[in-house]
Amino acid sequence: MQNYLVGLNEEQRTAVEHMDGPLMIVAGAGSGKTKVLTTRIAHLMYNGVDAFNILALTFTNKAAAEMKERVERALGNTEARNLYIGTFHSVFARILRGEANRLGYPNNFTIYDTDDAKSVIKGIVNEMNLDDKHYKAAYVYNRISAAKNSLIDPAMYKLDTTIQQEDARGNRPQMGDIYEAYARRCFRNGAMDFDDLLFKMYILLTHHPEALAKYQGRFQYILIDEYQDTNLAQYAIIKMLGARHENICVVGDDAQSIYSFRGATVQNILQFQDDYEDVKIVKLEQNYRSTQTILNVANNVIGNNKNQIKKSLWTSNDEGDKIMLVRTMTDNDEGRFVADSIKEQQMRNHYANRDFAILYRTNAQSRSFEESLRRMNIPYKLVGGTSFYQRKEVKDYLAYMRVVVNTQDEENIKRIINYPTRGIGKTTIERILVRANELNTTFWEVISNHEIDGIRSTQIDNFVMMIRSFQAMLEKHTAYDVAYAVGKHTGLVQELYNDKTVEGLARYENVQELLNSIKEFTETPDEEGELRDKNLGSYLQQITLLTDADQNNDENADVVKLMTIHAAKGLEFTCVFAVGLEENLFPSAMSLYDRENLEEERRLFYVVITRAKAKLWVTYANSRYRFGTLVQNEPSRFIEEIPAAHLDKTFTGTSNKAPTSPGGFGSMMNQTFDKMPSLKKLADKLAQPAPPVHTPSPDFVPDDAMAMEPGMQVEHQKFGMGKILTVEGGVQNRIAGIDFGTGHGVKKIMLNFAKLRIVK
Ligand code: ATP
Ligand code: MG
Repeated sequence: MQNYLVGLNEEQRTAVEHMDGPLMIVAGAGSGKTKVLTTRIAHLMYNGVDAFNILALTFTNKAAAEMKERVERALGNTEARNLYIGTFHSVFARILRGEANRLGYPNNFTIYDTDDAKSVIKGIVNEMNLDDKHYKAAYVYNRISAAKNSLIDPAMYKLDTTIQQEDARGNRPQMGDIYEAYARRCFRNGAMDFDDLLFKMYILLTHHPEALAKYQGRFQYILIDEYQDTNLAQYAIIKMLGARHENICVVGDDAQSIYSFRGATVQNILQFQDDYEDVKIVKLEQNYRSTQTILNVANNVIGNNKNQIKKSLWTSNDEGDKIMLVRTMTDNDEGRFVADSIKEQQMRNHYANRDFAILYRTNAQSRSFEESLRRMNIPYKLVGGTSFYQRKEVKDYLAYMRVVVNTQDEENIKRIINYPTRGIGKTTIERILVRANELNTTFWEVISNHEIDGIRSTQIDNFVMMIRSFQAMLEKHTAYDVAYAVGKHTGLVQELYNDKTVEGLARYENVQELLNSIKEFTETPDEEGELRDKNLGSYLQQITLLTDADQNNDENADVVKLMTIHAAKGLEFTCVFAVGLEENLFPSAMSLYDRENLEEERRLFYVVITRAKAKLWVTYANSRYRFGTLVQNEPSRFIEEIPAAHLDKTFTGTSNKAPTSPGGFGSMMNQTFDKMPSLKKLADKLAQPAPPVHTPSPDFVPDDAMAMEPGMQVEHQKFGMGKILTVEGGVQNRIAGIDFGTGHGVKKIMLNFAKLRIVK
């Protein structure tokens, strides 16, 4: 028997050894679907099929890399390098590079990312003299994206009565024209956006029979992982490519379908049997990944979904530990708990960093974990997302604040001078730069100094005035007040708030999260209980230290992985922290009133549980800052779906211990972090009883400020009775230190402004 067949169970082996004809494997998580798929590739090659004739597709680059690695391991040679294994987008981009001329594109066509695409759309909307608040770029982009993924070109779009009615109802009758202009513009620029990589591939195969014949001939064996998440475009392309040989192998799990919001349809897997004749169906029922406990919990949870193909899944693995259910006071406590637990587990069980994954519902949740991991010197990597402080919207926001604090910061001025759009174009910016060079002065000097002529305009003057108004706040206001004003008056927050797409919402949440961290910074006393320097400068200084710490980018590095559950599909880890299990977060607020959406959230929960091999923690916080306020959330309804017998419950949140770590850079970071106030302390502060409110006596008449002397008993309108301890300063700035007792304590009072009555 070949090496790669050793250890496969009977069903797996049947699937691997099946050579020709359509094959479908539908099975639960961790049952070896991906293993079968990769082993099958090895088997095909071992039986003489050329790597050149095999196409294997999956969804994430990470999954593709893992698949390639597994094939290489199974084959024990490097032949696998010639295989077409990759994501739909990357494989099709590669094919399109070779075939672009047939479509009238240059071979080195540009690929526009979402931001590029949106700015093209913005330009078109403006050129067409349409209201860009109504025809928002993000909205238009999503609409065009959905059309492309449903294989609808501009002409079809304009002829389709349902679509036309939808646009009419939304009062956007020009959508079709924008789509048409956008497609034309991209073509003229020699550019394709992400969706074009699927759509143009489809066009290539339908309009160019030679190309179709070529690839049908080439890809004699097609294998698709995670088939449950394919959309119409992907489905149609696969159908065409496989039509000649019909050696299509699809593997998937309807219980892990989590992309319906992007047009994926489980229908594709359900109707596979109708698409081809003589489909061989293999069921895999043994789970090799997880402990019995983890599997039982997963089965129990998914059993609550009505829409599903019933499957039985068992394992011969050990029963394993119970699931740790952990409640913390705040989201920062949650971060701290997870980092502490990782350290503890490593000491106890000698786990490596790479054995751990922290998986969350939304990208914005990464911040508290990033902070705790850094503080504990645990190397980590954020997968499939940019580090919180690297995200564009966060960087834009920070850029404003950096400019307010330091107007010499030319890079950041350039970044925000026309964001949100305020009519200061590229040419103007270039002219400013030239002028600054000529005069050997700064960018800011050129735009703000009225003696330098020929550059300024109303827009520029307004921008300068706005920045100055923030600067005027610096001395007397906290970092949060200034940050809030910046968000409000620049239009930055509004811009993000208006974008109601999934990505837009995520960006808005990230900006709120940034504000939360600033608020927390300013509101919480430090170790000594004093309110220390809470201005914007000190906040930014701290953040700079945070961002400067190097991140590890090596794929194989021994690091803790942080990612969304969506990005973790298909992967496995020894220890998994499923975090943020709170109503309105997971399940998400948008899914609560719709059974189908709720079932998709439950499938996501099933996905996160089944990523774990040995240990699973499920955590939630009593309160977390969301959208600028401290929100109390109920525990997620999904927690109740975990059988109590499998749970070990812990409540944590009182721990406030100082981080332990060696010296060097780490300890420098620790010092910074020691100053990071915790939400816990804030919560404690909020929990203290409010000081009593004083009602002034009916005969209250304020006395002259100059009459106040130490030792006097006085009455303050708001703080009540007190004793003057000290008096200092001159006539203009006479300040008294007054002890108002337990409620308010000792306060410094400006006597010229305060109203005080001398009692005796
Ligand atoms: P998912 O639904 O999460 O994508 P999957 O069905 O694709 O899971 P795999 O990732 O292929 O499952 O396999 C899960 C784990 O079980 C892997 O570590 C794999 O190596 C192991 N495994 C699969 N089959 C066997 C087997 N016959 N013997 C030993 N280990 C196996
Ligand atoms: Mg898999």
